[in-house]
Amino acid sequence: MLSKDDLDRLRVPTGKRIRLKDYATSWVQANGGLDAHKVLVKEGAQEVLKRTLQELSEAQQLLFANDSWAVLAIFQAMDAAGKDSIIKHVMSGVNPQGCQVYSFKRPSSEDLSHTFLWRSQKWLPERGRIGIFNRSYYEDVLIVKVHPEWLGLQKIPSELCGKTFWQDRYDDINAFERHLTRNGVIVLKFFLHLSKDEQKKRFMERLEKPSKNWKFEAADLAERAYWDEYQEAYESALNATSTDWAPWYVIPADQKWATRVLVADILTSTIAKLKLRAPEPTPAQRKSLEEARKKLEKE
Ligand code: ATP
Ligand code: MG
Repeated sequence: MLSKDDLDRLRVPTGKRIRLKDYATSWVQANGGLDAHKVLVKEGAQEVLKRTLQELSEAQQLLFANDSWAVLAIFQAMDAAGKDSIIKHVMSGVNPQGCQVYSFKRPSSEDLSHTFLWRSQKWLPERGRIGIFNRSYYEDVLIVKVHPEWLGLQKIPSELCGKTFWQDRYDDINAFERHLTRNGVIVLKFFLHLSKDEQKKRFMERLEKPSKNWKFEAADLAERAYWDEYQEAYESALNATSTDWAPWYVIPADQKWATRVLVADILTSTIAKLKLRAPEPTPAQRKSLEEARKKLEKE
């Protein structure tokens, strides 16, 4: 498990402005290189991940059995930061029946005819489940902020698009997440923090390796040109929406193995904090269990 210090380092504090550039994109660099002692290093990561995924699987079973709490994990990142692979790896050990993944793409015309939180509602996890949002309503304060033409498509009355527009959206998001957490949905938000150099490397790999060609999209390169604008939009969203009830974690994303372990750890330890136990049968249930046992024994 990550130490409290490590967790605090990754968590965006509330009520204190952070700068993204103060957060490491490389876990290795932030910890003094691969030789550093007592920190997660690559050689040990596989072992730690295996153990953590086992714990996550057990935690998820309890979540499912209790059928009361739900967990919503939101993933946001620049292209090629590894959202897909992290979701694949971290969820690999859990029971697919207790897990739902939804990827948010460009909004449809039906989506655009509603308010920006509308389309998320039906993909929220049911009680007892872990819900993963691959992108989310945060796109509405990220890409939409960087490319205001999207805002035009949302058909919001112009008199409502004043100076406080973005702050209003952050407030709406905070209130929405407050609503979720007040009703038993734990909200965790992960920003996979990738360096611009590492993104270039990963794009190059997609171009050079035939097996990875399918992953390359020209549109991703077009968005790279807006790197600074995106970093600014992320920084401002993280500052405005990391709350006590729904914190943001900035996860170094330059080494995929580190990203996986960190996310799996935070997810697992958050569920562990609920101290769930297998539900105890009621006296009536106990009686019917006993009757069933006797019946089977007689067969
Ligand atoms: P992949 O790894 O498969 O490329 P992806 O998440 O990048 O996954 P894409 O279909 O390539 O999926 O891209 C989805 C696009 O939809 C992103 O550019 C994202 O910014 C955009 N998008 C998501 N939500 C919104 C929104 N509310 N308004 C405008 N654009 C959005
Ligand atoms: Mg894409």
